[in-house]
Amino acid sequence: MAAGAAILASAAPAAAPAPGTPLADLAALTAPEMAGRATGTDGGRRARAYLAQRFADLGLAPLGSSFVHPFSFKLRDGRAFADAANVLGAVRGTRDPDRWLVISAHYDHLGIVDGAVYPGADDNASGVAAVLALAAHFKAHPPAHSVLFACFDAEELSLQGARAFLARPPVPVDRIAAVLNLDMVSAGHRNEIYLAGTHHRPWLRPILDPAVRRAAVKVLYGHDAPPNSGNKLEDWTYASDHGPFHLAGIPFVYFGVEDHPDYHRPTDTFARLNRDFFARVLPLFVDVATVLDRELAAIARAAER
Ligand SMILES: [Zn+2]
Repeated sequence: MAAGAAILASAAPAAAPAPGTPLADLAALTAPEMAGRATGTDGGRRARAYLAQRFADLGLAPLGSSFVHPFSFKLRDGRAFADAANVLGAVRGTRDPDRWLVISAHYDHLGIVDGAVYPGADDNASGVAAVLALAAHFKAHPPAHSVLFACFDAEELSLQGARAFLARPPVPVDRIAAVLNLDMVSAGHRNEIYLAGTHHRPWLRPILDPAVRRAAVKVLYGHDAPPNSGNKLEDWTYASDHGPFHLAGIPFVYFGVEDHPDYHRPTDTFARLNRDFFARVLPLFVDVATVLDRELAAIARAAER
């Protein structure tokens, strides 16, 4: 951008997002007091409290006595984490409430490293804001099957939140027919987003194709084939919280953008996120979630669940 244009741009700063919108959630989760939302830190606990309050405000049903589901874990390097927690809420299905679709995004990020805050706007405040938008959508348009909204903790520490969820599931695992996982969904530098999962479940393609064609962004299938298959794209099957679900035999649909220069850097900020792209992917996620709900019994049959 030329210097003159930069002056014009700075003279007209982007308006603050309206309360209750996905951009407002994104701004809140990347605010200084969230301090990068690292697991077991004050910033992580503030993010957790914010999400539990949003779930309550949206009118989601808790699974058990609280939206907050604590867990602890120990890493191979010996580091122990006693205060991790997933935030879980549900909208019950109108026709078949005992069959579940999980819609997930991890809310933790890297926190403060060597004095620098890593706000994690794209990774993954964006996915969490999208999950909240989907929760609002399904409250207003009740699904046929039950939908479990999961904001996972400790994804950045080897997918611990998703593992804890499946180790002590709040609903029977064999009643979970599919998971839609969102992780890094706002930094669409080429107006592109990847949809992973159909390499493992090719019969998902005809189910998803119409929504993919309707999307206002370019949706590319891929990033889900093992490296020895001749596929040049990195295999993301275990790169985010859908990995443990896949291991449990649950079909996954994952949306995420290609790695970018701000990935896992302090520059992954609210100010730098691509608002136009983010506004274009939200209707795509609503579309795909609606299709998954509509087809959930067929998906369960195809996956022999
Ligand atoms: Zn992530």
